[in-house]
Parts: sequence; C-alpha cells; structure tokens
Amino acid sequence: MELRLYDTLSRDKRAFVPLDASNVRMYVCGPTVYDFAHIGNARPVIVFDVLFRLLRHLYGEAHVKYVRNITDVDDKINDRAARDFPGLALNEAIRKVTEETGRQFHADVDALGCLRPSVEPRATEHIAEMREIIERLVKGGFAYVAEDHVLFSPQAMNAANSSLPRYGTLSKRSLDEMIAGARVDVAPYKRDATDFVLWKPSKPGEPSWASPAGIKAEGRPGWHIECSAMAWKHLGEHFDIHGGGIDLVFPHHENEVAQSCCAFRRERMANYWMHNGFLQVEGEKMSKSLGNFITIHELLKDWPGEVLRLNMLKTHYRSPIDWTMKSLEESAKTLDDWYRVAADVEPGKPAASVIEPLLDDLNTPLAIAAMHGLRGGDVSALAGSLRLLGFLSESAAQWEGRKQQASGVDATEVERLIAERTAARSRKDFGESDRIRDLLAAMGVAIKDSKEGTTWEIAR
Ligand code: AMP
Ligand code: ZN
Repeated sequence: MELRLYDTLSRDKRAFVPLDASNVRMYVCGPTVYDFAHIGNARPVIVFDVLFRLLRHLYGEAHVKYVRNITDVDDKINDRAARDFPGLALNEAIRKVTEETGRQFHADVDALGCLRPSVEPRATEHIAEMREIIERLVKGGFAYVAEDHVLFSPQAMNAANSSLPRYGTLSKRSLDEMIAGARVDVAPYKRDATDFVLWKPSKPGEPSWASPAGIKAEGRPGWHIECSAMAWKHLGEHFDIHGGGIDLVFPHHENEVAQSCCAFRRERMANYWMHNGFLQVEGEKMSKSLGNFITIHELLKDWPGEVLRLNMLKTHYRSPIDWTMKSLEESAKTLDDWYRVAADVEPGKPAASVIEPLLDDLNTPLAIAAMHGLRGGDVSALAGSLRLLGFLSESAAQWEGRKQQASGVDATEVERLIAERTAARSRKDFGESDRIRDLLAAMGVAIKDSKEGTTWEIAR
C-alpha cells in the first residue's frame, strides 16, 4: 500500500510521491520562544513526529530531512524580555528569554517521545537569506520600500502574467474580497490594505540588522519571511511537505507561498500542505482568561509523556481534539497494560494492520485500534508497532517504578502487607486478608492473586 496524504492546497487525499526518494524533505513551523509551550502546541509536534517516523520507516532513516524552526525574533519575545528582565539591556534579556524557553521546549517535547528534527534553524541565524529573498522580491516588482519598511504586494503577484500561483489559493480566499473587506485604518506606508510586511524598522534598543533594498536604517524581519528563508536554506526552493496547525493557513502559510514562489519564480513551494486541527480543553477553547490554559510542563508533573502522546494520537490529526481528564486516565490505563505485556518483549516488525491505517493519511486512531487487536495475539508485533510510533522508551519495571514514585506509595510497606495477607490466607483468616486488601486499595494499590503468587500495581 502507498502513502496517501491530505493536501490543504488541493483539498484532497493524494498518493505521496517524493521529489527525490533519497532525500524526502519536510518543513514544520516551530515555536515562538517566549513562554512555556501549551498542550495545543504539542499537537503539531507529536503529529509531525509520527509522520517523520513513518517516512523514515518507508524511505530509510538517512533519506528523510525534517526541518522545524525556532522563531526567535518576534514582538512577543521583546515584550516578555522587557517585562521579565527590566534591569538588563534588551538584547541580553531577549537572549535569556529565548535560550530558557528553547531549553524548556526541548525538555517538553523530548518527554513526549518526539525525535529531534534533522535541523532546527533559528530565525536570527538566517537574516542573510531573508535579505536575499526580499531583494529578489523588490527587483521582481512584487515588493516595495516605504518609510523604511519593505512590503509585499499580493496585487502585484496576481497581476504578474506568469505561472506563479494566485495569492489566496492555499486558504481559498479571493484577493478581491480581501480588498473589499480590508479595515480602513491601514498603516499609512502601505499602498494597499492587503500588503504585508517583509521587513520593518527596529525601535531603539530592539534587535536590528542591516536592512535590504537600500534602506539606511537598521531593521528586522517580519514573521512570514523567516520561514521562507529557513525552508529555502535547508530544503531548497521546492520541497515535499510543509506542515503546521490549521490556524497558520492564513495568513502565515499563504504569505510564505507568495514570498517563496515569487522570489524563485516557482509554481509551488511545497507539494503537500498539511495542517493539524485545533485542541480544546474539556469542551472549551483554551485561553488564559478561562483558566484552562495548560502547559506541557505542568501536565508532565502528573502524567508520563507517553500518556500525553497516546492521548493526542487517539484522535485523527485533522479533527479537533477535546482534551479531557477522563480520556487521559483511559490513555494511562492503556499504556500500563501495553507496558506490562509488550515492554520487555523482543520487538518484531511493526504489524501490517498498524502500518496500513498510518499510510492512509496518518489514521492513528485506527492504528491504535489495531494495536488493541494485537494485544491478545502477536505481542512482538505489538511491541514493534508501539516502538515505531514512539512508545515503550522504558522497561516495564521502570514504568511501574515511576508510577509508584509518583503515587508516593512505599513499595517495602506494600510488600510487607502482602506477606501478612498471604500468611492470613494460609491460616484461612479471610477477615484479616480482606482487611489488608482494603487497606492496600485505600493506599491506591491493586493486587492480583494467581498460581504464582500475588502481584501488585498502582491502581489508576
Ligand atoms: P504558535 O507558537 O502560536 O505559533 O504555535 C505553534 C504551533 O502550535 C503552530 O503550528 C500552531 O498552529 C499550533 N497550535 C497553537 N495552538 C494550538 C491548539 N490549541 N491546537 C492545536 N495546535 C495549536
Ligand atoms: Zn512558519
């Protein structure tokens, strides 16, 4: 069976044919590093990690290049730096904010079982490429300089008589409607309301670089140009897959396409545009004001990263997810069980019943259902399938031990009580044996009697 992926641009599921099977190339928009990542931000990271793993499985580890950027130039970063480190020079404060947030992001996504991408470019290290693209756009008549800004003109793009895509195609918006619906209080330096910023002047004290297009004052890039530049540097003018959350389709990805296609005179930037659906919490949009804003960092205090990972993958990546405590508890139970039966087993080849749904536009809920099916049968195929999907990073004993530690249960005390209960049972004192079982249950310990003796685990 072949891999099929849903492409936001063509609005259909198509066979995936890489431009070069020995170098399959994927770009995913990464975090803006100014604060802890929330559980919604974890969704694209986990979803595209699964795709990365699947592509490596299909084309070979050495033949897949995955680029996920770090946005370290942004107004939100500047504001956070000024607020958190008022005593420091702004540039130094910004470095502190981006370094600390970047470190935290890595700790979070490592714990979620995500492989590091092949390259993690930082915007601040690609200013030269941004300037180069901007110069090309100005020369080509797609962008212009006004009051030390450089602006991209979607109308110039659509007026060009060439094989360029039309602005608005990715997000299925018509430029005419955008023009008609534009706000009245448009920045005075814009020729048209729909023009967007490629480069702008920096305020005093803000990070700044030599400007392109003959502008004397120093400045800094807009957000969209950052991704066009980093994708170009690491993946070339035209590559296979570009991903991110559904909220990025417009304007971010629409503008990336416009910049890259006009600068390189290409019909396409990426052949497949993939977007994950949004995550909400207990039926509500996640927001700071509703108080249901959860960071990955906080969740990891209560749940192993693999539980969060499984919980994310139980929903197809294009559907919205409702993130609930109930579903987390179920995911934890499932993983407890899989760890018990499969973690210490020699992993076999991933099962065809698991790979096939993954090939169908990453149908992870069906793949998970197939793994439930393997549980009572081919556990070595279950182990192999789980590993392919980024699970079973620990041994069964480590997993159980972590659960015990997190629960605060004293294992020695539990063993002592179980020995007492065994003694009571052998002298047929069932009243005492039941009392001890209830005591253990109250401590959060579940016991199981079999011919081999009594085993126990932390009840979820
Ligand atoms: P941001 O830092 O806001 O640019 O977001 C980083 C990534 O997380 C982007 O791909 C967003 O589309 C994605 N994202 C942000 N919030 C959510 C959410 N609630 N559900 C799913 N994805 C999200
Ligand atoms: Zn981007």
